[in-house]
Amino acid sequence: MPRAKKPEPPKPEFRVGYVALIGRPNVGKSTLLNKVLGRKVAITSDKPQTTRLSLLGIRTTPRGQIIFIDNPGIHKPLHKLNKRMMSFVHASLQTADLVCLLVDATERFGHGDEFALEMIKAFRGPLFLLINKVDIVRKGNILLLIDKYKELAPFKEIIPISALRGTNLDVFEKLVFDNLPDAEKLYGDDDVSDQSVRFLLAEIIREKVLNHVTAELPWATAVYIDRIERREKGEGGGFEDEEEDFEGMVGEGQGEGGDDNEEESAEDGGVEAGGESGDASVPGLPYSFPHPLFLSEKKEKKPRLTKEELKQRPVAYVKASIFVERDNHRKIIIGRKGQIIKTIGIEARREIEEVLEARVFLDLQVKVRPNWRDSADVLDLIEGQKRF
Ligand code: GDP
Ligand code: MG
Repeated sequence: MPRAKKPEPPKPEFRVGYVALIGRPNVGKSTLLNKVLGRKVAITSDKPQTTRLSLLGIRTTPRGQIIFIDNPGIHKPLHKLNKRMMSFVHASLQTADLVCLLVDATERFGHGDEFALEMIKAFRGPLFLLINKVDIVRKGNILLLIDKYKELAPFKEIIPISALRGTNLDVFEKLVFDNLPDAEKLYGDDDVSDQSVRFLLAEIIREKVLNHVTAELPWATAVYIDRIERREKGEGGGFEDEEEDFEGMVGEGQGEGGDDNEEESAEDGGVEAGGESGDASVPGLPYSFPHPLFLSEKKEKKPRLTKEELKQRPVAYVKASIFVERDNHRKIIIGRKGQIIKTIGIEARREIEEVLEARVFLDLQVKVRPNWRDSADVLDLIEGQKRF
């Protein structure tokens, strides 16, 4: 008699889906993304409109794969740039399997919050409310917010978190998995983001600009990477000298005089590597670092390298343009005696060296492009960097 086939053990469910992070500017969407991934894929700052387009951040665990969509903050769009930013938010609501509305626990409920709620109204899937920044607010405020929001939308979960400290993020992740569909993986185990290394470098530089200038100016700056080039040691461009102090190589824009179209270089002269002037329409990218085009391979924090090990690293020449809209903005970024651009350059270079695993010579130029925020050409150029 044929024996009945043993039933297969049930396959454990594998939960997969897109999770959109939505909210007003500055509520901590990008901070949350970085914390959950354990790696910086999105820049953050205390200035609004830091995130300009949607970025994926992919987290794969034995339980499943969450594809987070980090978004620009919800705001009234005035320029073409901002209209595009908002169109990313709308698109992510179309893609998402689950939406997380983030709110800042330290802020009072206002018009902007109503606007954000209005936007997510049409979403039919599971909706979470994340009350962020609970590390710096009294419990009573959190309870008030919970009561308020409960009335306003059918949130499936309301979770107080601190994206900065990591508070409650394990609970958050578990609840996300619980609410995603059972599906096949959409990305590889090592994939962490959909942005190119080039875009990440541009964002790192922009983050340092945001950190070192105040008021309105940050909204009117953009960064374009003109070149990333691998250099052999001794191949000119200032790399002949083995003892070269890379710290000193970024600095000293003159910052004085000049008309609107004058371009100001941040490098301190003598290094015209690549022999090209900074024409931002030329996307020259002879990219040959041991890195994939798109960010993957999770990185653990590595021990500090010794001086000798640092010397063994390949050398990269990175040329970037910082676009501003007005000449006085250019002067602000350069600073007195070039001090500000120098600091921006040093901080950006350090971080870029970690990404490229190379010694980096960073050549920054500040360029005036009136009304770039309304120029489709410049916006295409900047966004295009995300892909290659
Ligand atoms: P986004 O515009 O929503 O992406 O906000 P960001 O992630 O850029 O964060 C905006 C600011 O809020 C930054 O200065 C963050 O350091 C800060 N921030 C984000 N999350 C927290 C948090 O949980 N606690 C505190 N105290 N600050 C936070
Ligand atoms: Mg952000």
